[in-house]
Amino acid sequence: MLDFEAYKSQLQNMRSELTHRVEALEKDIHHTEEPVEKDFAEQATQSENDDVLNALDDEAKTTIIQIDNALLRIQNGNFGICEKCGNPINENRLQIIPFANLCITCAE
Ligand SMILES: [Zn+2]
Repeated sequence: MLDFEAYKSQLQNMRSELTHRVEALEKDIHHTEEPVEKDFAEQATQSENDDVLNALDDEAKTTIIQIDNALLRIQNGNFGICEKCGNPINENRLQIIPFANLCITCAE
């Protein structure tokens, strides 16, 4: 039997960490209100940086959605069950990825 409460607090901690990260990233992305750099190379670097930041931002947001889904599954009592085959997800896997929604076989 899985310890839902333990996973729940772990997921909530992860979620708040990620939320802070997204806030920090978005501050970085939108801080480009400074006058536009004349130097073209500089501009290219800036937009490359923004791409990286945006990718990290998207990734964090995707994870937040997965965490929310996992929290919902805890609420519904089907946490730790593979969404594809219905078998229990290995606990070692859940310890590494508590928001996993697929068992290792289905995820591969
Ligand atoms: Zn499965």
